[in-house]
Amino acid sequence: MSEQKRGLVWLTPRVAYLPGAVNTGLLAGGEGRSVAVDTGIDGEAARKLRRAAEDAGYRIAAIINTHSHADHCGGNRWLQDRTGAPVFCSPLERSTIEHPILEPSFLFSGAAPPPALRNRFLMAQGSRVEAGWVEGLGGEALRSLAGVEAGILELPGHAPGQLGVACDGVLFCGDAFFDPEVVDKHRVPFFADPARGVATLERLAALSLRLVPGHGHPVAPDAAGRAVLDYNRSTLLRLRREVLDLLGEPRTEESLVAALAARTGLEFANEGLYYLVKTSLQGYLSWLADDGLAQSQVEGAKVTWRAVSGR
Ligand SMILES: [Zn+2]
Repeated sequence: MSEQKRGLVWLTPRVAYLPGAVNTGLLAGGEGRSVAVDTGIDGEAARKLRRAAEDAGYRIAAIINTHSHADHCGGNRWLQDRTGAPVFCSPLERSTIEHPILEPSFLFSGAAPPPALRNRFLMAQGSRVEAGWVEGLGGEALRSLAGVEAGILELPGHAPGQLGVACDGVLFCGDAFFDPEVVDKHRVPFFADPARGVATLERLAALSLRLVPGHGHPVAPDAAGRAVLDYNRSTLLRLRREVLDLLGEPRTEESLVAALAARTGLEFANEGLYYLVKTSLQGYLSWLADDGLAQSQVEGAKVTWRAVSGR
């Protein structure tokens, strides 16, 4: 079924992906037009996708971003400058794609981010997003674009407004799940909202679609594919239990990050990694608080978290 052509792997006669540090997708439409799903981290990644598309006889007429992280939309500007392709995404992710400073700012409590967070891994070049395409999207929708019929699914969790793009039985999932090796490497995979991330993983497991993640290999709708999704789901549930366990005594968020890192064997190679893990931790704290299992309070000059006793 799959055919290698200048790096493109065709999963169906109309749907291909270009494997890389970040997988990008190509949906072939009518009259030599195509839709790119994500554009990679920079202009070089976008150039490779455009070259592969052109070698296969397609020009890129539109871009859909699964979410606003720089490694998925960093090639938008390069591609948009050369093709004029409009960009589509969810309303929530749109603001960051248009104003990339919001990604490092998001990780820094919304404040102006320091230089250590203003790098190409956390801050793309900005690109224009076409107005109105997925505004008001609730759940699923079928969209027609450049001769391509694509299903759009909301897949929140890793990023709050993450989308999946479905065509011909293939679903490009962004970072809704990771290869088990990637999960093991990251120890605490980034999920801004792990509660909704688990719900998304359960939804994906119930679909009969081949799933293409942003990083790693596609999985089929079979037992092996479900095992990959279940590994992600059980990792999030285990991390929730770890965080709850650490709340047996009052702790600040800083102390929780250090304790979680010690438990999971995580070492922070740079500040970006630290803030990604801290943000995920905060997602677990909100989840536990929503379920009535944890609460925060101001103690002197600190905010501390603890488990709710008697639960
Ligand atoms: Zn991401």
